Amino acid sequence: MSLANKLALERRGRLAAERLLELKQAELSAANRKLGRHAAALQGEIVETRAEVENVKTENERVKTELGQANQKVEIAERRLWHSVQTITDGFAFFNSDNRMIAANSSYLAIFDRLEIIQPGVHYVTILQVLTDEGIVHTGKLAAQDWREMMTERWMQPQPEPITIRLWNDQYVKLVDRRGQGGDIVSLGLNITESVEHEKQLKAARAEAEAASRAKSAFLANMSHEIRTPMNGVVGMAELLGDTGLSEEQQLYVDTIRNSGEALLVIINDVLDYSKIEAQKLQLHPEPFDLERCIHEVIMLLQPLARDKKLTLLVDFDLFLPTVYVGDPGRIRQVLTNLMGNAVKFTSEGHVLVRVTGVPDIEGGRADVNIAIEDTGIGIPEDKIDHIFGEFNQVENDRNRQFDGTGLGLAISQRLVGLMDGDIWVTSEDGVGSCFGFRIPLALSAAGLPEHPPVPEGLRRVLVVDDIEANRTILRRQLEQIGLGVVTCANGVEALQNLAGIDLVLSDHNMPEMDGLELADAMRTQGLQTPIILLSSNPSFAANDPGATHLHAILQKPVPRADLFARLQSVGPLITRQEPAAPETPAQAPRKMRVLAAEDNKTNQLVFRKMIKDADIDLKFAANGVEAVELFQSFAPDMIFMDISMPRMDGKEATGKIRAIEAETGEHVPIVALTAHAMDGDDQGILECGLDYYLTKPLRKSEIHGKLREFCPQDALPPLPDMEVEALQTG
Ligand code: ADP
Repeated sequence: MSLANKLALERRGRLAAERLLELKQAELSAANRKLGRHAAALQGEIVETRAEVENVKTENERVKTELGQANQKVEIAERRLWHSVQTITDGFAFFNSDNRMIAANSSYLAIFDRLEIIQPGVHYVTILQVLTDEGIVHTGKLAAQDWREMMTERWMQPQPEPITIRLWNDQYVKLVDRRGQGGDIVSLGLNITESVEHEKQLKAARAEAEAASRAKSAFLANMSHEIRTPMNGVVGMAELLGDTGLSEEQQLYVDTIRNSGEALLVIINDVLDYSKIEAQKLQLHPEPFDLERCIHEVIMLLQPLARDKKLTLLVDFDLFLPTVYVGDPGRIRQVLTNLMGNAVKFTSEGHVLVRVTGVPDIEGGRADVNIAIEDTGIGIPEDKIDHIFGEFNQVENDRNRQFDGTGLGLAISQRLVGLMDGDIWVTSEDGVGSCFGFRIPLALSAAGLPEHPPVPEGLRRVLVVDDIEANRTILRRQLEQIGLGVVTCANGVEALQNLAGIDLVLSDHNMPEMDGLELADAMRTQGLQTPIILLSSNPSFAANDPGATHLHAILQKPVPRADLFARLQSVGPLITRQEPAAPETPAQAPRKMRVLAAEDNKTNQLVFRKMIKDADIDLKFAANGVEAVELFQSFAPDMIFMDISMPRMDGKEATGKIRAIEAETGEHVPIVALTAHAMDGDDQGILECGLDYYLTKPLRKSEIHGKLREFCPQDALPPLPDMEVEALQTG
């Protein structure tokens, strides 16, 4: 090869090497640039990470400090808690869910007397074992083994019941164990020795006190019996001695002996009763009794005292309330005597009113009876109201001091009313008067609803003369209830001007201006023969008055309804006797419409009576068909309301008999059937028997009023106010 070729080859090789070098240099600088960029990025990251590390370091430091502080606090709290637990005198321990002790305070451990085995980690069953083995606990009637079993079983309960154990040294520990959520158990051992001892002492003291109380009651009962026997002799003999014609001075001495004796008897009785109630020996003896009569009997006893003080005694017994109940009449009378006696005692002028109200539950055979005794006496200061029901408590002031008394009456009354499941209360205004009330639930007697005798023949209109309005109102309501017309006057003078058409005068005795006896005198002087019944708080005094000859009767005031009605019966013949003279009196007042209602059921009678209470009619009731036929003949009703189903003779048969009697006279009395049967076709059966109309029960007031208006005869007074007024009342 030529040199030139060689040179050219060399040159080409050199150029190729130069190109390669250039290429490599370019690659190298690109790689350098990339490396530079990467290094720069890394540098940034390093700075950032350093900052983060710095941050974490600070945070770490802070957390460390806080954790240290928290730890310190926890330690303090734990120390304090444990310190507290250690200082409490009751035992305190807790166990883990494997029933091993975690910790216990020194009180808990104390009973084990530093036995090494009893320390954290010990099993509960081992503790029980130690308790019995070492004789630390009295297991009572149970053998040690049984006691441990019983205690283990209890411990295993989800929530063990507290139990009291007795230790060897007669200390009593009540174990209260509570299971927590994780199964841990907190166990408390409360030392209750003191309360157990106290309870024992109390029991002993109570037994002692009861024995003493029984002895006291027995002593009081014996003593009061012993004292009462000779006292009866003293009082009885003093009374007999009083009737033997003594000088005035001797009479005074005898009266004093008797009054003091009686006062002493009252005190003895009070004390005896109270001790009986205290000893829970007092038993109630329920029996049927007439409450209204019972109240009047108490009034009779109080009447002499009331009369001396010129007080009026009034009774307002709810007309629609039954009077016969099943209860302990003796004890009810005792409460009434206490309350009414106080009312009379603490009242120097005015009146004492006994108001009896209540809601009978006829179906349930019971009634809640409220009895309130209102007086116009000295009253009771407000701050003493509760005090007076306490034993031997009285209002301590000058006014009260003038009155005798033991201060036991209200305490006894409150206990008695409580025994009868009732309650007692009082409202009072100092210087104005008091109202003592009590409520007792009573069973209705079989003879539950008040029964009144029929109004005597010929008796239609009664004149009531009394200066006290409450009395006039009560009498008016009682008389109107049995269908009589009533005119009231406040005094004798007024009465003399209102005698026209009056069949009977019912007059109070003592009245201002003209009293009842003077009124009787004046009537007879005027030639009026109208019968007069005098109501007096002192009948024997009235009977000795010359004017008493004009009287038909003298009744003790306030008069029980039953007595008043019975007395009205005796007036009947007097009125009939006068009747022949009647035609000579041209201006005779028109008579009332006569209505007969045959109804056997007392409640229905009551309902019927209530519905026609506004009607001015002469009403009689027959309790069965036989009576209805008899009354049809004797009473000559203008119309008859006839119940269909009745005992002895039913309404259909009675109507048949009445129609048969009428067949001879040619008369026809309208008969309205009252029937509970509202079935189709019933009306036909009823009408076929001779009844004219029928009304279905429950009765409606407007229908009954309608029939009264329809059948009122020309010569009778209109039975009801005009239609407009009626519409207002019923609508
Ligand atoms: P006593 O009447 O024997 O004192 P009570 O227990 O019956 O005992 O009554 C206690 C007291 O209550 C009476 O002393 C009297 O102060 C007061 N008190 C009772 N009833 C009345 C009353 N109707 N009016 C005023 N005070 C009364």
